[in-house]
Amino acid sequence: MDYQKLAREVLEANLDLPRMNLVVFTWGNVSACDREQDLLVIKPSGVPYDQLKQEDLVVLSLSDGRILAGKLNPSSDTPTHLYLYQQFPQLGGIVHTHSRWATSWAQSCRDLPAYGTTHADTFYGPVPATRKLSQAEIADAYELNTGKVIAETLRERRLDPLAVPAVLVSGHGPFTWGKTAAEAVHTAVVLEECCMMALHTELINPQVQPIEDYLLDKHYQRKHGKSAYYGQKT
Ligand SMILES: [Zn+2]
Repeated sequence: MDYQKLAREVLEANLDLPRMNLVVFTWGNVSACDREQDLLVIKPSGVPYDQLKQEDLVVLSLSDGRILAGKLNPSSDTPTHLYLYQQFPQLGGIVHTHSRWATSWAQSCRDLPAYGTTHADTFYGPVPATRKLSQAEIADAYELNTGKVIAETLRERRLDPLAVPAVLVSGHGPFTWGKTAAEAVHTAVVLEECCMMALHTELINPQVQPIEDYLLDKHYQRKHGKSAYYGQKT
């Protein structure tokens, strides 16, 4: 089992959360997985970011959640992360935070509409808000049920998780993901900016409508489609 490289990536991604102003206290966590080795690496529970070290990270089996390495308890949100990796093989990294603007949208239980090209460059359509969890779902296996309601939302809306790499869990906060932990952090920052801009867009023009599909398509496809042309050829 060789997880040092993955652990370095997960440590850096976790430390990026306070650097990017996405968390206060310990209100966030990042994980990443290695599917070949069946490993998940995640932040430990309740450890402040300024004290977090690589050896504090917890390594678990991706398929059954057994702890394979690490002395500390994994993040309490680990069952959510595990379930999402198990359901969506495209995912390599997941971020959860209580960042201000995205959590404000999650608390208002509303999808984040695509109001401009900043949004369309990363999200191919609105970022969905989940339904609320029931009392029974909260009483028992709450974190697992949070993963289930996210998966249910993506399936019901027929979303490709890499085309809309985020969700707003109603009454709770945002989850973002990507092929790597670093990608998931990048998306968390973009989501935070888009949530802040969308609120102000609605304040300035309460009648505003989402951008037209042809503008959404143009911006998403120029970065992500088969004929993407944004940036430099490598
Ligand atoms: Zn949370």
